[in-house]
Amino acid sequence: MPHLRSLLADASQRLADAGVPSPDHDARELAAFALDVDRIPVGEVEVGPDQARRFEALLARREAREPLQHILGSSVFRYVTLQVRAGVFVPRPETEVVAQVAIDEAEAMAATGRRPLVVDLCCGTGAIALSVATEVPTAVVHAVDTSLDAVQLATINADASHAANVTVGHGDVTDPGVLAHLDGSVDVLVSNPPYIPAGAIPIDPEVRDYDPPSALFGGGEDGLDVPRAVVAAAVRLLRPGGLFVMEHADVQGAPTRELALRTGEFESIETRADLTGRDRMLVARRR
Ligand code: GLN
Repeated sequence: MPHLRSLLADASQRLADAGVPSPDHDARELAAFALDVDRIPVGEVEVGPDQARRFEALLARREAREPLQHILGSSVFRYVTLQVRAGVFVPRPETEVVAQVAIDEAEAMAATGRRPLVVDLCCGTGAIALSVATEVPTAVVHAVDTSLDAVQLATINADASHAANVTVGHGDVTDPGVLAHLDGSVDVLVSNPPYIPAGAIPIDPEVRDYDPPSALFGGGEDGLDVPRAVVAAAVRLLRPGGLFVMEHADVQGAPTRELALRTGEFESIETRADLTGRDRMLVARRR
């Protein structure tokens, strides 16, 4: 029977040859999944034929650059484990920093005894909304997405997280009436909208071939059609003093600050970076 150590070494090499950016990590994750354990055991471990076959099948999928998260069926975002699947955008680690800004604001408000009202526009799997809802339990969170697949998956994830303080609904941010019943009352509006410019085709097959284009491309040459709609929704939904946080591409710092500035409705407009130091989000306060 093969030993896990040699199977893993071989698997890592195959994934590296296929251009997978984190071959060791992915090989271990797939092995743990094949062996049905949380973490692969250390030392000399023999792998049975059924487990080896299972591992090989998973490995072949990853070698063909199917996203690891789709193969495993789940992804960890901050403290929540989210179901992920084809047709819905896979949450990214850099968005954890965007969620952090919304959480900090909601937490500060909750500390004063008020219940923060938080909106997540373009919620996808529900990653940001569920992080806010679970990390700030007194928050009231509304999440919407225009994709019915996303709404269904975010609802499943909300149920699984037992967060009773989050509502997931169908809503298109380009619809000027989305969440209109909350107009002028939202304390924190957070969004990771599609924003990739039309000409910037993603290089990684995991993104290019698997993330839904509607969740990637923001529309228009500059990719900012949907972000522009998010800014307009933020003006309408936020209460005076409410905080706006929106993820964007590293080249969109200045243009998104300009979008906020031009409305005349925001102050303290700034661009913040992610953990790799790249411009990643617009943060602004509603006047
Ligand atoms: N961050 C995404 C990517 O790198 C782009 C779309 C988004 O997050 N809204 O592919």
